[in-house]
Amino acid sequence: MFRIELQDSRSESDARAMVSSFFPGEELEVTSLDGMEALPHDSAGLSTALTVIRDGETIVNVHADRKDGPNPVAIRNMLKRRLYIALSHYTGRELPWGTLSGVRPTKLVRELLSEGRSEGDAKKLMEEFYLAGRQKTELALAIAKREIEILAAREWSEGYSLYIGIPFCPSRCLYCSFTSYPRKAFEERVGEYLEALDRELSYVGEAFKGERLDSIYIGGGTPTALNASELSLLFDAIEKQLDLSSLLEYTVECGRADTVTEEKLEALKKHYVNRISINPQTMSDETLLRIGRRHSAADVRSAFHLARKMDFDDINMDIILGLPGETEEDLRHTLSEIKALGPESLTVHSLALKRSSRLKEEGGFSSLGSGMDMDAAMALATQEAGEMGLYPYYLYRQKNMSGNLENTGFAKRGREGIYNILMMEEKESIVAIGPGTVSKRVDRDGRIRRAGSVKDLGLYLQQADEMIERKIALFRGRFFSS
Ligand code: SF4
Repeated sequence: MFRIELQDSRSESDARAMVSSFFPGEELEVTSLDGMEALPHDSAGLSTALTVIRDGETIVNVHADRKDGPNPVAIRNMLKRRLYIALSHYTGRELPWGTLSGVRPTKLVRELLSEGRSEGDAKKLMEEFYLAGRQKTELALAIAKREIEILAAREWSEGYSLYIGIPFCPSRCLYCSFTSYPRKAFEERVGEYLEALDRELSYVGEAFKGERLDSIYIGGGTPTALNASELSLLFDAIEKQLDLSSLLEYTVECGRADTVTEEKLEALKKHYVNRISINPQTMSDETLLRIGRRHSAADVRSAFHLARKMDFDDINMDIILGLPGETEEDLRHTLSEIKALGPESLTVHSLALKRSSRLKEEGGFSSLGSGMDMDAAMALATQEAGEMGLYPYYLYRQKNMSGNLENTGFAKRGREGIYNILMMEEKESIVAIGPGTVSKRVDRDGRIRRAGSVKDLGLYLQQADEMIERKIALFRGRFFSS
């Protein structure tokens, strides 16, 4: 049991992320002493300290003050760096990304290079200030350089992208924390949900009239948990409300192979979808069963071959490293099956432990029995992706990731998922519809604001009009002036 005592609650999320990274899955309690008399408190944030207590014994005690930086942010960054060094010393371990605990480490590097700073400067910042390892620094640099090339194609701040969430799946996966409901249990609400999306789409059509729509991403959940006529209804609503003439990319996730049928793929083709994702996560039938996906590796192969037969020439596949009971042999098998299929892109995830997942409820990482060394697994996946002609082009991190690693998208040249880059690098506004989605407004000066929707499907259906109001408030003055 760990307890963190903080002098300034603004360091809470950094301190939590750092301690959880060194001690994954451990119980963590945080006490903030803001305004309490136990420690002298500096409300201006120019002096701050934190203590980490393990089973009643203090293992780390660090502080930072005005000698360490010109403002509270710089002072808190120094506190975080000292916490990292102290925990690294205590455990005898280093983290692959050093003190970087945020979601977007490549954004930092891309922004530096875009400002005209040298690769040497970027490396120095990553390795000397953030204490990231050599391998991750090289990876971040390679991705940032590739993104700069890809992003040069358009002035992104002038356009927008659309995300639509379909919160239904055939069953719930062990590790899932997304807004997703088993379709069978919510059968009678599917029609109501499509009506709510239709209303949201009319708002988008009105508010973004005359604006350039760059990409559409339909995710979830599993969009192909809808049947072919429901999918067609959704596509018709999109086409009725939006101008697709500038669209670069139209992605639909067909995540679960057991939901892919010829009729549905025909609907996708007919409605201009040019990128799909068929996600095995693993090609081991035993693991698929263990994680509750209820489809087999053979289903993945059939879905993929069917899509190819129907001329889908941009197919992504997702896999997860560190699944329960998986060994390096299983991963080798998965990668060789994927190599034989030959997708245009492959997204490699490191298993993350999410609060609302069954995995967390059932005992977390310690219950997994995975025999995999995560560093070696990621190195193997990267090497095999290279042999498939796929190179890293985007990357993001999540909290509580196995091995403190990252999720990396690999793609053939020219087949990079534009929406993925835009979302991670925060280059343009994204209007997101559906429960649990977050819309993002990116202003021309780079300022970013967000508005979320409620996560619960029942609440969303009750409050769909309020979700529209939230977006109206978010985008007012940016895309429409009413
Ligand atoms: S397919 Fe994806 S969204 Fe659906 S239950 Fe599994 S992890 Fe969750």
